[in-house]
Amino acid sequence: MSDSLFADASQRFAQALKYVQISEDAIEHLKYPKASLQVSIPVRMDDGSLRVFQGYRVRYDDTRGPGKGGVRFHPSVSMDEVQSLAFWMTFKCAALNLPFGGAKGGVALNPKELSKFELERLSRGYIEEIADFIGPDVDILAPDVYTNQMIMGWMMDQYSVIKRKISPAVVTGKPLTMGGSLGRDTATATGAFYVIEAMMPKFGRRPQETTVAIQGFGNAGAELAQLLWQAGYRVVAVSDSQGGIYAAQGLDIPSVRQFKETTRSVKAVYCEGTVCNIVDHEVITNQDLLALDVDILVPAALENQIMAENAANCRAKFIFEVANGPVSAAADAILEQKGCQVFPDILVNAGGVTVSYFEWVQNRSGLYWSLGEVNQRLRQRMVEEAEHIWKIAQELAVSMRTAAYVHAINRLAEALAAKGTRDYYVNGHH
Ligand code: NAD
Repeated sequence: MSDSLFADASQRFAQALKYVQISEDAIEHLKYPKASLQVSIPVRMDDGSLRVFQGYRVRYDDTRGPGKGGVRFHPSVSMDEVQSLAFWMTFKCAALNLPFGGAKGGVALNPKELSKFELERLSRGYIEEIADFIGPDVDILAPDVYTNQMIMGWMMDQYSVIKRKISPAVVTGKPLTMGGSLGRDTATATGAFYVIEAMMPKFGRRPQETTVAIQGFGNAGAELAQLLWQAGYRVVAVSDSQGGIYAAQGLDIPSVRQFKETTRSVKAVYCEGTVCNIVDHEVITNQDLLALDVDILVPAALENQIMAENAANCRAKFIFEVANGPVSAAADAILEQKGCQVFPDILVNAGGVTVSYFEWVQNRSGLYWSLGEVNQRLRQRMVEEAEHIWKIAQELAVSMRTAAYVHAINRLAEALAAKGTRDYYVNGHH
């Protein structure tokens, strides 16, 4: 199993353990997921046939609060992937000091092959199968790759039907009219932007002289491209699953977004009518994008993009991981040797779960916040925790990733110790 995603994820935990003082109990506890569920979801298709899809939900840990994590619809969803993502969520929530444990879910399917009606039946069917495993005080769902607000709305509605009471706090990332929070749809990108803005001055970097390449032009990637572009960074390349575009002088991100919205692909953006703002651009592959000579590289697509095989090609000076797990543990070592500074997923993309937390709080209090309030609280938390992790990295002379894990493990260990430790029982402390 050494090549599994989870084995790779566990290595990060093991590496950070060298720098923390935590009990054997806590280490033992954090090695395993608390509960894992695999379900078969029968769905009546539009043509009358029946298809059965495999769904998963893993609650990795709930020491610091109910499980929290997104639901992914993707053909490569597996128990290994869901468990790894749930593991990351545990450390992400602790790193950001959110009162949540870590969880994740997913269904193995290609959502592009399903009609909207089929997708709704599948989403509701998933909740039918996992309803007893989740809840506002147990495990809270959210969007992830290829799931969105509409799907979260269906899931919340189905859970409410099953429980016979309106339960908005079981799912975050809902439509605003169903109890969603302002700023949730842009939270991951906004949080990443705050981290970039807090960290780059430490390297004497100003936006105007900083080039950026972004892999993945979805929810998180496109919004972050926009924020960086607005702040004056030169975004020279973006890509999606079909390929990418590069322009040395910088891309006009609003045009790319507009194009992507109408054609659903970023490739050859500038060849079309009204958005021909820059003529001098190249069509590139995703591998080309990862190897570009840029200051900042932002993987914002899927995990396992920068691996032992291609890490040596990477020429970026900074990597901000918006995707979960885009850089493997082996690649980390190669990048470090090359002097590339990697800012880890559990910090950089935590804006999403942070505003999910705000949504959950608003649902439970019944009082809704303005966008300004949401973003101000988001900025405060992201910058505070980023600075804290930066300080740990300097003090221990470790990578930002190890520092983020150290930060998270310390909080988890404290919570675990508060429940009673071996020391407590064996040494008879009262
Ligand atoms: P999304 O589905 O909106 O976008 C994914 C993008 O990646 C799309 O543009 C897609 O075309 C592209 N893509 C897919 N396969 C690719 C490939 N092989 N090469 C290049 N591009 C490819 O998803 P999202 O919500 O933006 O999530 C992206 C990443 O960010 C995921 O790893 C997710 O776990 C992470 N993330 C998202 C959130 C959130 O709130 N949306 C929060 C935390 C982390």
